[in-house]
Amino acid sequence: MKRYRLPLSRVFPATHPKKGERTFFREKILQSTHEYYPVQCKCGWVGSSEECDCYQIGQSGDWSDPQCPKCSQYVEEFNCFPKRHTIRENVEYWKKRIDEINKGNAVLEIYEWIGKPYGKGSTTKTLFTFDKNSGIGYQELQFSMNSFDFPRTFSKNGGVLALMPGNLAKNDGLSLQDFKDWFKKSDLSKPKIIIHFTDFRY
Ligand SMILES: [Zn+2]
Repeated sequence: MKRYRLPLSRVFPATHPKKGERTFFREKILQSTHEYYPVQCKCGWVGSSEECDCYQIGQSGDWSDPQCPKCSQYVEEFNCFPKRHTIRENVEYWKKRIDEINKGNAVLEIYEWIGKPYGKGSTTKTLFTFDKNSGIGYQELQFSMNSFDFPRTFSKNGGVLALMPGNLAKNDGLSLQDFKDWFKKSDLSKPKIIIHFTDFRY
């Protein structure tokens, strides 16, 4: 089985005003795939309910609330909005790969860097593996008049769908301002690809 790998940023990149701050993309994807739910601890730890200890109580058979893997306090649900997709530049490259995944010939691994990307001593951590049953897919993204104000995509039968900029940004896991700052160096005259992590489509 072929494995195609797609990196996600754990922190905002150096070119972004929020440089170094956590993006919480992983937690936002968890929110959209519903496998586990994002949680946070008073100690500052943020993660997935999957990583927490949770004991079954002898008498009742109920489960205790999840506990932080770092400090064992009870954690609370982390309310973030779901990240449903990522936007990339290499349209044909990703179309081909996602088609292959949906034919059952490959899987998509979403990973993040631990440490500086490609840095000495840095490693990667796989966050999600999507296969043909995950509902992943793609839609082409264009910006009319090369403007962030006029994003558009296409329906299954080729009809033009005007997108709300704020909605597009939110589904990408970002506020509109963060989205604009993220893509400020991108050539908006060139089509891009929306890679969907779930069966959500515009
Ligand atoms: Zn903690």
